Amino acid sequence: MWNCVKALVIVTLLFLFCVEPGFSARHNPPPIGGGASMPTFAVDPPTSTGVTQLTAKQYAEKLITLPQAAELRRWHDVLTQEPHVAGTPGDLRQIERLKQSFQSLGLETRVETFRALLAKPIGATLEIIDAGEVNQSKNTNTSSARKGILSLAVGEKNLLEDPATAHPDLSYGWNAYSGNGDITADVVYANYATQEDFATLQSLGIDVTGKIVLARYGKNFRGYKARFAQEAGAAGLIIFTDPADSGFTKGATWPSGGGWANDGCIQRGTLNTLPYPGDPGTPGVYASDNVLREDPNQLDLPRIPVQPVGYAAAGAILARMKGPSVPDPSWQGGLNLTYRLTGASDFKVHLAIEQQRFIGASANVLGMVKGWRRPEEVIIVGCHHDAWGYGAADPCAGTICLLEAARCVTELTKQGIWPERSILFAAWGAEEFGIIGSTEWVEAHDGEMAGRIVAYVNLDMAAMGPNLSMSLTPELTAVATNAAALVPAAGNSAATALDVMKKNKNSDSLFGILGGGSDHVGFVCRMVVPSIAISAGGSQGTSYHSNYDTTAWYRATVGEDYEPAIMVTRATLSFAALMSNQSMLPYQFEEFGRIGLQSLDELTQRAQTDQDKLEIETLRPLLMLLRSRAHLIDAEILKNSFIEPRSQQRVYLGMKKFIKAFHDPVGLPDRPWYRNLWVATDPSDSYSPSLFPMIRDALQGSNHALANAVSRTGAAIQRALSALELMQTGLQPTDASTWQEIHRELPRVP
Ligand SMILES: [Zn+2]
Repeated sequence: MWNCVKALVIVTLLFLFCVEPGFSARHNPPPIGGGASMPTFAVDPPTSTGVTQLTAKQYAEKLITLPQAAELRRWHDVLTQEPHVAGTPGDLRQIERLKQSFQSLGLETRVETFRALLAKPIGATLEIIDAGEVNQSKNTNTSSARKGILSLAVGEKNLLEDPATAHPDLSYGWNAYSGNGDITADVVYANYATQEDFATLQSLGIDVTGKIVLARYGKNFRGYKARFAQEAGAAGLIIFTDPADSGFTKGATWPSGGGWANDGCIQRGTLNTLPYPGDPGTPGVYASDNVLREDPNQLDLPRIPVQPVGYAAAGAILARMKGPSVPDPSWQGGLNLTYRLTGASDFKVHLAIEQQRFIGASANVLGMVKGWRRPEEVIIVGCHHDAWGYGAADPCAGTICLLEAARCVTELTKQGIWPERSILFAAWGAEEFGIIGSTEWVEAHDGEMAGRIVAYVNLDMAAMGPNLSMSLTPELTAVATNAAALVPAAGNSAATALDVMKKNKNSDSLFGILGGGSDHVGFVCRMVVPSIAISAGGSQGTSYHSNYDTTAWYRATVGEDYEPAIMVTRATLSFAALMSNQSMLPYQFEEFGRIGLQSLDELTQRAQTDQDKLEIETLRPLLMLLRSRAHLIDAEILKNSFIEPRSQQRVYLGMKKFIKAFHDPVGLPDRPWYRNLWVATDPSDSYSPSLFPMIRDALQGSNHALANAVSRTGAAIQRALSALELMQTGLQPTDASTWQEIHRELPRVP
């Protein structure tokens, strides 16, 4: 159990905005193996008299000297001992390893189990069959020697160069939540299987009804390939990795001198496109042992069989196709043959998939370092721990940074240096099946943690090369910039990570917009917590979701020196220190105005009718007001121009109000799990962000009125404006002309 009682004692009186102090046990899910036997650790920080007080910058500078390549490498060895797919025995052993790792650092550790709808592979067959032989091909125990049947690889070969690939727990390639089925049909090539690609096929008069669609990875989330194929009437789907996207067109392949996908490398991954992340059977509530679950057969998961393959298998099919060549050069992939849209009368494809959906246990592993000054406020650093195989890159290139950051923070506590706010390290379970562990945590703890999480940091697959990048919610722009400025770039240059980010940026903004795709989704889109994803890329190659995602691949491709991981760990520590040790939270709000106005331009362009355009444009004056008001207030907060401690509290409260301004407990009309009116996951691509999602959903033809979306979004912007007004009452501009400017420019919010 968390040691809450002492936390209560040392809660300081300055800022008491939280609901309850400590890390409440009220809604806590039961730990694995029962709560009573869970060891706890006396990790409460000393009171203010026994602690070394550092400024945020001093704390950051101390922390970033500590990450070690040897330690990161050791964590990597610990976490990549065996395949650990969620819901398997390997997963449970991984959870135990993480628990022991957190405990070995002296973190107050808790394991929170959940039981979610998972899936496991039972069998898969993929064959090319001479048309004349179709009737004899019912047997799925194929042998390529049978007359007229060519068996295609559905799993990777073991590599002599990497003995880890021979592990018996590594599975053949599969896509979780595929439908079951045994079909033999003609094939149609559908490029990336986007909505536009299916529209193109239709416009060319090519019917996919009852056919097996062959599509390549890339452009959109694989789950939508399955959804669009199914909606178009396809009987099955084969998804392949094309050499132009991740194979030999990019560079030398693994293990032949490079890190790119070889012809047998297969990308696994979930097909879940439900309108909410987390356990498919328990939307909005914690997936505990005895929770009421939806009937798995009623869930909108794929019904057609879906099989991922490498480009050798796809090439064998493509080479036999004799239909019209692709309509556009962008449909031509990297194989040395003409990509064609339809097959030929002399062959069919046989696809048989068997998977089992089951309720399986996994867990989140949490380790807490309590803050000494404001323990009730928490910075969460998270990364998932489950993988499709060994997961040396995905997720462990992030999980090792999580563990190393935890080691560095606890290292300093031994010298009497504690963070002022608490830092919670979280290794999430079952992310790969649909962001399950972190979503369940958010659903379990939303009430008690609301308003207490000052920032969430996500590190999924984070250290993959020398180029640091960050995606975030707008209020973290300034603190993230400052954090990156303190961190040396990877390698032996004098540059900072921020310099490298500036050099590599490809838009007018240094930062990406945080939306979908990983464990930040619950924090951003439901809890509405300021969040950032830190990662570093640029290595030449990919082993993504394949059996080749091993430490041998990682060390050959990303490097033996762990420089990217050191940089990511430093950036994480630097960010956490700046969030932890400034009495005033380092939020800035002008970016909401700038990004909001940009997004508005785009939405107006997208609107079909003049009336819709006018409707959307009613938000423009509000956003302009937000931008100019935030601009002035951000500057005053930077100058620390508070009138008195009590006004400082008003600024603080104003910030907390602003953070929650876009939170709408009713949620989006078509997908009420999503409660943030500023940003949601894009409804047709789980990786991308959708800004002003209620308006965007309305424009994409959902069945509620645009007017309602605009008025609810407008109400959220007005809440943000009144939060700024509250901040303004606590600020004393340093020169009178600025003060006048504020009053001249900023009429009161109606
Ligand atoms: Zn991942």
